[in-house]
Parts: sequence; C-alpha cells; structure tokens
Amino acid sequence: MTGIEIYIHIPFCVKKCLYCDFLSGVFDEKMQRRYVAALCTEIQYVAKTHPGCIVSTIYVGGGTPSWLSEDLMDAIITTVKKCFKLDPLAEVSVECNPGTLSAEKLNVYRSIGINRLSIGLQSANDDELKELGRIHDYNRFLHTYDLVRKAGFENVNVDIMTGLPHQNLQKLEKTLSSVTMLRPEHISAYSLIIEKGTPFYEKYKFDAVKQQAGMETEDLPTDEESYKLYKYTMQYLESKGYKRYEISNYARNGKICRHNVGYWDRVPYLGLGLGSASLFDNVRTNNIRDIYKYCEISESIAQGKNLDYELSSPYLETEEIISKKEAMEEFMFLGLRKINGIARSDFYQIFDIDIEAIYGPIITALRNQGFMDAKEGRLFLTDIGIDVSNQVLSKFLLDK
Ligand code: SF4
Repeated sequence: MTGIEIYIHIPFCVKKCLYCDFLSGVFDEKMQRRYVAALCTEIQYVAKTHPGCIVSTIYVGGGTPSWLSEDLMDAIITTVKKCFKLDPLAEVSVECNPGTLSAEKLNVYRSIGINRLSIGLQSANDDELKELGRIHDYNRFLHTYDLVRKAGFENVNVDIMTGLPHQNLQKLEKTLSSVTMLRPEHISAYSLIIEKGTPFYEKYKFDAVKQQAGMETEDLPTDEESYKLYKYTMQYLESKGYKRYEISNYARNGKICRHNVGYWDRVPYLGLGLGSASLFDNVRTNNIRDIYKYCEISESIAQGKNLDYELSSPYLETEEIISKKEAMEEFMFLGLRKINGIARSDFYQIFDIDIEAIYGPIITALRNQGFMDAKEGRLFLTDIGIDVSNQVLSKFLLDK
C-alpha cells in the first residue's frame, strides 16, 4: 500500500478578490453541477490507474469549496471514499469563506467525515477587507466562525495576510488579537504578493517594484516595514501559544496541517480537478486548466468513448519525470521550510547516499554564516536563515 494525499480543486468563487491569481472564477450552479459530475468521473478514473493507495489526508481547496451546495460536497467526498482506501484517522479539510456556510451545510460536512476547516479571514479590519475585494466583513467572519464551532469542529484554521496596502502595526495587531482571542487551532499568515494579471497588479505594480528595490513606497509597506510586520506576527502568535512549524504556519496543541506537512515531506499526492498538480512515483503532472475541456473529457469517459491523448492520462496538460538530482533539491527546498527542518537519515533512506556527500560544503558554509544549524540528526534553518530563506534555499540547487 502506498500512503498518499489527495488534493481536490474547486474553481468557483462568489466574486474574484482583487489580488487573486488562483485558478478560480464565478460560475453559476449549473456549471458547478456539471464540474462536480466531471470531477467524480476523474476521481473514479484516477483511482483505477492508482490501485493500492491508502489516503492519509484529503484537502478540498479552491476557489471557495464551501460555496458548493452540500449535496455536491457529499458527492465528492463519498466518491473518494468509494474509490480509495481511506485511513480511518485521515485528516479531511475544506477551505471555506465567511458567508458561504450554514448550520445545515456544516452538519452534512461532519456527517461525511470532514474534520478540519480552513477559513479565509485575511484581516479583522473592514477597510482592508474592502480593499482586498473580499466578500465579507469581520462580523460576517465572526458569524461563520461561531457556526463552525457550534457544529462541533475542533480543528479550525484561520488565514490572515500581512503586507497589505497601508497596513501598519496597529492594524495588524487588531487582526492578530481578534483572531487569537477566538483560539483557532491553527493560523496561516501569508504575505501579500502582487501577482501579474490581477487588478492589484495594475494598481500597485510600481510600488511592488519599489518595495523589492528597498525604496520608499506609496501604498504598500516598504521592504523594511514588511519585515517588521512579518516579525511582529511571528512574535505575537508565539506569545499566544501558537508554535511556528513552517515559515507561514502556526499551530497550538500540535494541531499542524498534516496535509501541508505531507507536501513539505514529499509524500506522494494526487491532485484531482481543474489545474491540479500531482507527484507520484517521482512524476509530476498538472491537469488541464480549461474548465470546458475538462468537463468534456470526463463526459466522454463517462459515455465510454475512446479518447485520443498523448500523456499518461487524458486529464493532463504537463507531465515531467523528476530526476534524482531534482528530487534531492526539492527535498531540501521543501523540507527546510519546516522549522524542524530535515532528518539526515531520511535523506539517506530516500536517496541511498549520505547528505554530506551531496551538500556537505554548502551545509558547512551556511552553518558558519549562522543561517543553518543541526541538532539530533536534523538540519534546519536558524531564525536569520528563515528571514533570507529564498537566498539560502537557492544554495541547494545542484549543477546541471
Ligand atoms: S476567495 Fe480565495 S480563491 Fe476566491 S478569489 Fe478570493 S482569494 Fe481567490
């Protein structure tokens, strides 16, 4: 039995947030139903081509999966359970947005085995939520959080963002204190990135360049201010009992997100749905990103038609074999995102060679510079190493 994780993509949102470049859009219920039927066909197809897997985590992300009506979510989870063997202690997470849940929906979630919810708050300041183009205000979030707790969910994440336009320490403090007072088990704190192709890019592209160049900015925090916001977040959350276990993720009472830890540990995963990525047997694949084409493929399969395709599945847009060298690089890049880093013994077990034989001089140099440390057979980045993690991690690229 191969232990795997499953990611399921729901590409629907009530409204597009102004900073978002994720694969999601606004589609009506008819399209949502068509997509979920196609997704269930893909789940059945992929399960047949990947026999002997045992699923340790399911993560339904998006998009806004909680916008789907409960019968559609039921259909998805039930299909996964029918087609794959699920670990009885599997973590089953769903991403939610405030205002898209009801008590009835949450009861269905619990009855089908969903045991973790991740709620996208981003900020407790209504002016910031408006600026981001979110569908909710803070009160709406509070109402949703209350529903979630009343429904009995005991493993809840809240997403917040730093580096927002005009964000300062007071505003951030309000978000952090509001969220930590609620005592969710997990908090993810990501920095805003100005992505090409978004309305935010048009509005803030010059500021983003200035920020990167360490210059004065107009709306976005400067590079130095962003660093202060990031450090403040870390210190604040740790002072409230949230242990940082990855660059942007914090948990209390050990309630880490097992699904994400699996990504950083390179556990094989199958991505199902539009645009999803998979890593299985050191082959990385990406599903097609055109929703109409995706549905047509599934509908043809469901009708028993023969399909013409070049890669190993009709759903794929790209397929790439990961070489041993690339797998080593990934092992380092991903593993060192975790605060407890990587185990030397894992490297040896996976690659059949001592880590020192590959990365010895780099590790020594980084340790001498204070960016890396070692303890009990593990290697990890120090606080200052994490602060400059992009530069540090790039050192683990191997020559072609
Ligand atoms: S809800 Fe999430 S996925 Fe949807 S537009 Fe906003 S940020 Fe993007």
